Amino acid sequence: MIYCITGTDKVYWLEKTTAGHRENGTGIKFKEAMQMSKLAIDGGSKVFPEGFGFEPWPPVNEKTADRLREVYLSHKWSFYGEVEKKFAAAFAKYHDAAYGTFMVNGTVTLETALNALGIGPGDEVIVPSWTWMATGMAPVFLGATPVFVDGQADTFCMDPAAFEAAITPRTKAVIPVHLFGSICDIDQIVAIAKKHGIKVVEDCAHAHGGKWEGKGVGSFGNIGSFSFQQSKIMTGGEGGECITDDPELFDRIGRISHIGYQFAAERGKPAGPPPTNLICHNYRATEFQAVILMDQLEALDADSKYRAESAAYLRSELEKIPGISTQKPGHKATMQSYYVFGITVDPAMLKEGKTKADVIAALNAEGAVEVFAGWGQPTYKQRLFNLSPDRFRVASSAVVEDIIYNKIILADIRWLMTTRANQEKLVEAFRKVMKEYSK
Ligand SMILES: *Cc1c(COP(=O)(O)O)cnc(C)c1O
Repeated sequence: MIYCITGTDKVYWLEKTTAGHRENGTGIKFKEAMQMSKLAIDGGSKVFPEGFGFEPWPPVNEKTADRLREVYLSHKWSFYGEVEKKFAAAFAKYHDAAYGTFMVNGTVTLETALNALGIGPGDEVIVPSWTWMATGMAPVFLGATPVFVDGQADTFCMDPAAFEAAITPRTKAVIPVHLFGSICDIDQIVAIAKKHGIKVVEDCAHAHGGKWEGKGVGSFGNIGSFSFQQSKIMTGGEGGECITDDPELFDRIGRISHIGYQFAAERGKPAGPPPTNLICHNYRATEFQAVILMDQLEALDADSKYRAESAAYLRSELEKIPGISTQKPGHKATMQSYYVFGITVDPAMLKEGKTKADVIAALNAEGAVEVFAGWGQPTYKQRLFNLSPDRFRVASSAVVEDIIYNKIILADIRWLMTTRANQEKLVEAFRKVMKEYSK
């Protein structure tokens, strides 16, 4: 009889003969091997070595640190510095859009996009039931009503049919989200929006560098919105950008973010006032953020490719485990820019009494750090989205609620940027846990 003990970075074969247990030359004792196959959460040994962890996100380097020092000593920290203007344009161009406006974060870029499109009180804006609360709050900032719609079972992104079913005469805009980097069915969403005279704002906070049939995310709708917050694929600590092909929208976005002045207008020299009743803020960011992001943009091609290769490896290995599946990329994605890696566990495959929360706890106990459940709730039930029921509407949500509550396990972006050896261990941890927890 041959035993295969996984649960470590090697596979140990132990042969049980009449003379006792014979090993395959690994020098491992049968008892030790049994200890390795026992789950760490039950007192067995861990798949990962003690103290395994990642460097904090985001990665840092000396070259960028030197450039930050130069900016500091230059006295030119804000009001559209050279790098900011260069970055805003280069980032837009990378995503195949004509114009880019850099701002303080990816919450106000969504609000600004809707404001530029003239969304206001009485209007409805369709958003996905599964997203960060900023997507749902953007219409609320303008006195409009968010209407939440369901996602697809494979990509988890907005279901075009659910979008179309939720349209009313008051619907003025839709905000599809490329959730965790998976590109939503943007062709269909734009086609449905056009048919009904609805504006499209793509929330690309998870999808920097993503391409759909070779064309950049954010360039399919009227405006694309990005976040550069600390956790995102590209980050300047904080930051955001709106991209668009429409010069008039670009002008309005520039004014909204620059207290009514034209984009990059020099301080104190406004060239003509903003349109009447266009409510303008100060959403300017700084040169420091642009310097960090410019360096990251130069690395984006290579980084996206590495993450995509990592995801392809994890997908092919994890899907061999009964009960485990993964979030699917957009069906026309030519570059799927992964933010976190979405893994699902089929609750029907789990032993009586075990849930995905138990699977996550067991994985964490094996030393698989940064594997977690995510936001845990659909947007409108998130703790911080604390609005009375008259301020929003839930049109549909059954598909994503099932995934959120019963199935989803997320692996942090650092799992996609780490070595293949670490990724192999993550797969091994899944194999070990599922062997114990599945029927
Ligand atoms: C992070 C995020 C935002 C908002 O970005 P901030 O820069 O944190 O304000 C918007 N939408 C989604 C889907 C996000 O995850």
